[in-house]
Amino acid sequence: MEQPICLVGIGKIAVDQHVPAIAASPDWTLAATVSRAGSVEGVSSYMDFDLMLAEREDIRVVSLCLPPVPRFDYASRAIAAGRHVMLEKPPGATLAEVQALEAMAKTACVSLFATWHSRMAKGVAAAKAFLAGKVVTEAQIMWKEDVRRWHPDQEWVFEPGGMGVFDPGINALSILTEVLPAPVHLTSAILKFPENRQTPIAADLVFSGGVKAEFDWLKQGEQLWEITICAGDDEVRLIEGGNRCVINGVEAAGTVLEEYPALYDRMATLVKTGASDVDLAPMVHVADALTLGRREIIAPFAF
Ligand code: NAP
Repeated sequence: MEQPICLVGIGKIAVDQHVPAIAASPDWTLAATVSRAGSVEGVSSYMDFDLMLAEREDIRVVSLCLPPVPRFDYASRAIAAGRHVMLEKPPGATLAEVQALEAMAKTACVSLFATWHSRMAKGVAAAKAFLAGKVVTEAQIMWKEDVRRWHPDQEWVFEPGGMGVFDPGINALSILTEVLPAPVHLTSAILKFPENRQTPIAADLVFSGGVKAEFDWLKQGEQLWEITICAGDDEVRLIEGGNRCVINGVEAAGTVLEEYPALYDRMATLVKTGASDVDLAPMVHVADALTLGRREIIAPFAF
């Protein structure tokens, strides 16, 4: 049976992914939106979040598609009003605020889902299953895309809390932390900040266990979202953002659902079972890079 859900923040990702995923889901029906400017045709729209929470007792689940900085404020109000909450990635602007939300959700007996859409990419489960119990000897992440193409005019990504190149890079880290059989930690980083911006536009990361990552947000031409993991003589390649997994040169079978339908499927299970899913491991690596990283100032950036 379909449950009513409310989408908050009708921006790029809500329109591109959340609205179609909800429309195609057997578990959810889009019953309301909260937005300062946008709406979804045929769906009741609110500008005032508190009014929606007060008027729509029938809506027990709220999905927040806002950038990370305003998210805590909305999530805490939803939890205080007894609603289950889904958070876009990264789940907040800081680790502590997400930990606070987790504690609030526990007290309120509601489900909190800190989503990592890239973990639902079709090749990730096969990579995780193959690597289970193995010793990883080396791994290389190449996450290189064009910010102007994927985040046109989104100034918030370069504001404090916007995370810069870690906004896409954290997707790679969400896959890495899902598939590695043992955790790694960051040992050094070089972060490139445009002289007129608050967040990095490129980053080179080194982790324990032979794991390295290159994030670049100025990549023209072919876009690259690849992770190669070696465990002795075995090689696992996750390509196309984790949607294809090639193990020792042979393509592995992928999971059935696309990333966002899989997130909404998981949310339905969490609500049904009264569980939460909040894993901060990808965000810990970003916080560590911003703490430990050496800063290089580069040419100014404009969209
Ligand atoms: P966006 O289009 O720039 O913003 C989403 C919406 O958030 C805006 O349309 C606006 O909604 C609302 N908003 C923005 N700033 C706000 C503020 N200060 N207070 C309240 N509401 C605010 O961003 P997006 O690309 O959809 O990204 C949103 C989240 O999804 C980010 O965390 C991002 O990492 C994640 N994500 C994005 C992509 C992508 O390809 N863009 C992919 C996967 C995940 P209203 O105008 O409706 O109020």
